[in-house]
Formats: sequence, C-alpha cells, structure tokens
Amino acid sequence: MIFTDTHTHLYSEAFDGDRDEVIQNALQKGIKRFFIPAIDSTYTEAMFALEAAYPGHMFLMAGLHPTHVKENYKEELGHVEKLLAQRKFYAVGEIGIDLYWDKSFLKEQQEAFRHQIRLAKKYHLPIVIHCRDAFDEIFEILEEEKGNGLYGIFHCFTGSLEQAEKAISYNMKLGIGGVVTFKNGKIDTFLGQVDIKHIVLETDAPYLAPVPYRGKRNESAYLIDVADKLADIYGVDTQELSRVTTKNSIDVFGI
Ligand SMILES: [Zn+2]
Repeated sequence: MIFTDTHTHLYSEAFDGDRDEVIQNALQKGIKRFFIPAIDSTYTEAMFALEAAYPGHMFLMAGLHPTHVKENYKEELGHVEKLLAQRKFYAVGEIGIDLYWDKSFLKEQQEAFRHQIRLAKKYHLPIVIHCRDAFDEIFEILEEEKGNGLYGIFHCFTGSLEQAEKAISYNMKLGIGGVVTFKNGKIDTFLGQVDIKHIVLETDAPYLAPVPYRGKRNESAYLIDVADKLADIYGVDTQELSRVTTKNSIDVFGI
C-alpha cells in the first residue's frame, strides 16, 4: 500500500524537535509520497533541506500563501517567479484567498492569486488552492482563468456538494483531510456522491489533525485515519482507497 499526502508542511517549526521521527513513522505506515506546499520566501531554505534529506519522497511546490500576502507581496511573487524559472517544482501552491483572518489585503490577494495561476499555466503545473471564507471570490477568478491548462487541487475542501461540483468543473480535485472525520465537518454527508476519481488525500500537517487526534499537532502518519474514514464513505477497503487516491495524485502532479 502506498499513500500520498498531497499537502503537508513537514518543514514547519512545529516539527523541529522530532522531524525525522515523524517522517519515519509516516513512511512505516505506507505514506511514501509527500507534496510540500510553500508559504513564503522565509521557508524556502527549509523546504530544500527537507527535499535533500529524503530523496524520492518529498515533492516541492512554489507559491505565496494568501495569509502571507502583505505590503511586500510583489517582492514575494518575484521570489516565486525566480524559483519556478530555476528548477523543477510540482505545483504552484498554496495560493488562493483567505478572508477569515484578515480582509484588508483582499485586492492584493486576488491579484496574487491571478498572477500565480498564470505562472502555473506558463510552466504547465497544477495549482493548489487555499480557500477560507472565500468561495465566491475564488470561483470568480477560476471562472476568468478556466480552460487553457488550468487544473489542480482544491486543498482542504470544506464546502457543500454544489461547491464541490463547481470546483470539479474547473478541473480541480478535492483535497480531503482531517475535517472529514469531524462530527460537525459536514463533508462526510455528501462526499459519497462525488466520484472517487476526484479525491486526493492530505493532512495539512501540522494543522487540522483528524479524530482521534483533533486539537493536537497533526502528522502525516495520521493520513491513515482520513483514509479509513473515506474507505468507509466509499464502501471500499483501505488498500483500494490508497491505490485510487495515489493514482489521482499522479494524475495531478505528473509523478
Ligand atoms: Zn497548507
């Protein structure tokens, strides 16, 4: 069984004390492929170090996270652009709009999202979308940019069935993580109606740990708890679920 964690921040400071243990633990459980979303330029070196330490397991993205779109965002976008020109990345992410924490940079977030979508198209890469309290704003830009090689993952999908179908219509897969195990998470009630070919697994570690670890630091090893819940929803065994969702991840990332 090979599982793919399509969204994990293993370079985060949250793992500075026991990163190797956390990664070995995940590898032992069959999670062998880790896709690593970027946040901003301050993490680039840590991401490269992670990649160098686990060759063949870590697949890096380049991008500017919407909550890190601030006064210096043009400089940060320049950094993303420079990285993409320099070497191989597997996606542009995570990018998008987040109106939960702060609405004051909405215009800049929209501009950064649009700009990075165009970079992804230029390099024939998928995008990985972060959306929080911003479905309308995200869909507005996807509508403008659809077609022309737009594809990717709607990370940490927490919307309705209608929003899921809309995301899929823009060539997005749904990144499903810990929220599917939450009692009030809601997506477990309709995901069974979404074809499994649109689903990829993720943890978003160190955030959003699944039940029974809810509220604690999340780890890639806990992907198994997400997989078990999804296997239940789709009426397949965990082995089949790992096979299909890993294939889906290959379809997106090309590896
Ligand atoms: Zn993330």
